[in-house]
Formats: sequence, structure tokens, C-alpha cells
Amino acid sequence: MEELLRKSAKEQSEAIRNKEVSAVELTKASLARIKNIDDKLGAFNSLTEETALNTAKQVDEKLAKGENLPLLAGVPLALKDNMNLVGSRTTASSKILENFVSPYNATVTEKLLHNLVPIVGKANLDEFAMGSSNENSAFKKVHNPWNLNKVPGGSSGGSAAAVSSCETALALGSDTGGSIRLPASFCGIVGMKPTYGIVSRYGLIAFASSLDQIGPFARTVEDAAMLLEVIAGYDYHDSTSLNRAVENYTAHLNNDIKGKKVGIIKDLMGEGLSDDVRKAVENAIETYKSLGAEIVEIDLPNIKYSIGIYYILATAECSSNLARFDGVKYGHRTENAQNLLEMYCKTRAEGFGDEVKRRIMLGTYALSSGYYDAYYKKAQQMRRLVTDDFVNAFKKADVLISPTCPNTAFDLGSKANDPLAMYLTDIATISANLAGIPGMSVPAGFDKDGMPIGLQILAPQLGETALFNFGYKFEQEHDYYKKQPKI
Ligand code: GLN
Repeated sequence: MEELLRKSAKEQSEAIRNKEVSAVELTKASLARIKNIDDKLGAFNSLTEETALNTAKQVDEKLAKGENLPLLAGVPLALKDNMNLVGSRTTASSKILENFVSPYNATVTEKLLHNLVPIVGKANLDEFAMGSSNENSAFKKVHNPWNLNKVPGGSSGGSAAAVSSCETALALGSDTGGSIRLPASFCGIVGMKPTYGIVSRYGLIAFASSLDQIGPFARTVEDAAMLLEVIAGYDYHDSTSLNRAVENYTAHLNNDIKGKKVGIIKDLMGEGLSDDVRKAVENAIETYKSLGAEIVEIDLPNIKYSIGIYYILATAECSSNLARFDGVKYGHRTENAQNLLEMYCKTRAEGFGDEVKRRIMLGTYALSSGYYDAYYKKAQQMRRLVTDDFVNAFKKADVLISPTCPNTAFDLGSKANDPLAMYLTDIATISANLAGIPGMSVPAGFDKDGMPIGLQILAPQLGETALFNFGYKFEQEHDYYKKQPKI
């Protein structure tokens, strides 16, 4: 059974259809593996065994009746614990929501259940998805399956570790500034952030609403494309959801890329890049050349401001979004308050962790009268310039490539007390969120210590098909994605 858990989602779904294994057996095997190894990894905040087995049973019943099964039916999946699933605790890895039970399903959850994908548990994350290492979880750290002393990346560290360690073949994460792509890169798997608006955010606990986007984790590009097909689509519950038909993302994976243009983001190939990561990207350039693509150099003059822009806009938005956690409507409420104001203050002081408090304060400051024009408005103007940089870049290239991160996974604790160093981890990923474009991290080799390296591929808005095509072509030229951590 462990052998099957190590296979791709597509292979797992085929095994179910061919009746080599039942969906219930596979789901039980996934749950057993989690129970067996997750003490070492910390990837799950909670298991949703009953829901998962119910779904799996439905798959087996349909199969027995000879009915058609939807895509990915019966393939176990981990749901990041900031997405609602009825009856499950949805904590966002925060004490303030420690005992909050979802009263409704997120739209992505509805779609997974409708497609009969068993949700085996809720994956650990940085508190409210704020972080790059998963060390900001209020409950426990996540360990990188390739080396348990290293971080898995964040904020969707639990989702990435679950897929990398073959606890599940699939997971969902959310990406506000890189939270899918960075952990995918650190854990040696595929992680993809769709165009803003492709996937509904209804039922996702909001961090920075103009940047948040849900996306797939998988061990192959094809699996990620299949999962995006399941979760994408217009939703009237989310006013930023795009009203357009879901594309067939798997249809063009193997298209010829001869004559297509791959842009190298020069601004992300400069100082601070580790030698091994640089070599991996150079190697990727050679791969694309050998596939007949033309390589062009791209300048994104404003990308150097991305981190500054992001930490004003994201904190401003989160200071507003997190105002709802006040001890009145739901979540933790302090037990020792004498009056209403004290209740608010103590509830939030007790419920939020340091990083969340830091961001709420920064964001409130940036939005306060007198500073609004200097910070928030300026950052919005700069965001437009970053977006324009990409519009210009995509006149010259079909896709852009860069490292997903200048370095590989770092040691647990090594940046935990240095927020600025932590923020810099996202230098390559943040601008895609500012511009609303899709991006993906694909396995691109290993450093001298055997830690995975990720190649980031970016495409224009709604360019998912090209993104998957270029990701797949690269993946198929190498066997990086076949190597799995020994856990
Ligand atoms: N690491 C970034 C942050 O801390 C991005 C997080 C995310 O994408 N959710 O905000």
C-alpha cells in the first residue's frame, strides 16, 4: 500500500478505477501513514477521518454500480487549515480559533466533496498564513521531510510536507505572497498559484484579500493541473471570482514549445543567490534551449520594491480583515475582563501570536490618517508599476523563469527572531501576487546537502495553460520529481 501512496494522484485514481484498490483502502492507508509518521513532521493540525471515509465509501459504491467517477475521485487530499470544512476545526493555526468548528464549507471544499476527493485532514500553517517557514503556527512546527531539522517553507508548510512525504498525493494551499510556491520549492514538489480570481476565496480565512489565492500542491505537474480543474470556477459568493468557463488545464501539457520565448528575470539572478540555486536555474535555461525555446533577458525594474509594497498592502488589508476576531462573534474570548474594551483588548492579546500582532500594528499605522497617502496610497501606485512591468515583459516572452527562492530550506530557528530576514525569503514570489498573475514552482534539482531546489515559472494573467505546458515540459526532461524523501 505504501507503494501506491508514493505514486501520483493520477496513478492512484487509475488504481481505484481498475479496482486494484478500493477508495476506502487507499484512504485508510493514507490515514495510517499520517498516524505513523506525522509525529515527526507536524503536517496536520487535525484529521477528518469520518468525512474522508464517507467520501471514499461513496466512490466505491459508485464504482460498484458502474457509474462514472469524477476526476481524482478517491485520491486523499490535505486541506490547509484556513479553509472551512463543515464539522472540522478550522484554526488557521491560531489560538484565537483553536476551538472554532466550521459551520459551512468553503467553495473549494464543496467542489472537492462534489468530486469525491477524500479530505483526510487539516494541514498546519503559519498563523493566519503569515510567515515563510511555518514556525509561526501557534500549535507546532512543521519539519521538512527531506531533513527534519529544516523548515518546510511557509505559510502552507503542512500541505507541502504532507504531499512531499506521501502522506497524501494532493493538498490545497493559499498563496498571498508565495505561500504555495515557497514551501513547494523547499519540499521538492509542484505548487501552483492561479491567476487572481480563478479560484473562489469563499470560506478561506482572509489574510490580504486582494492578494490571496487558493491553489494546488502535487508531486507532478499533471496532478496539479487536474486538481486546479476541480477547484477552479466562478462563484457568486466571491465578488472577485472571474465569470468564465473552467479551462481544460491538462489538455495542452505536452504541446511543443519550439520557438516559444522564455524570459529570464535578470533582477532575480543577481546578488544573494546561492550557487546551487543559480546552477539549477542555468540548467533550466539549457533545458528550455534544448527543447527549442528561445531565451530572452527580461528587466522588471520595479520588482525590487515588491517586498516593501507587499508589507504595506498585506498588513493594511490584514489589519482590517482580522478586526472580526474580537471575542464577540466567534473564537476565543478572554475570561478576565471587567468591561467591553478590556474584553476586546485581552481577547486579542491572548489570542494572536507575535507576528500577527506585528502585522496588525504595521497595517493600522499605514492606514492611519496622515500616513495613508505616504504609505498605503504610494504602495498602491507602486503596485500598478509592478503590474505594468509584467505586462511589458509578457510582450517579449511567453513565460518568465526565476528561482522560486534564492536559497533552499534553512534550519529551524535560524530566522525565527529576524522578521526582516524572513520577509526577504519571498523576494521572487511576491510580485506575482501584486500583479495577479499565475505562478508555479517545479522541482529543479538539489543542493549540495540534498535539499530540493524550485524553479519558478510565471505566465500572464489567465495564462495557466502555458504555465502548465512549460512546467510539464521541464519536468519530463528530468527525474527530479521522481526522487522522494526517505521518511
Ligand atoms: N511569506 C509571506 C508572508 O509572510 C507570504 C505569506 C502567504 O503567501 N500567505 O506574508
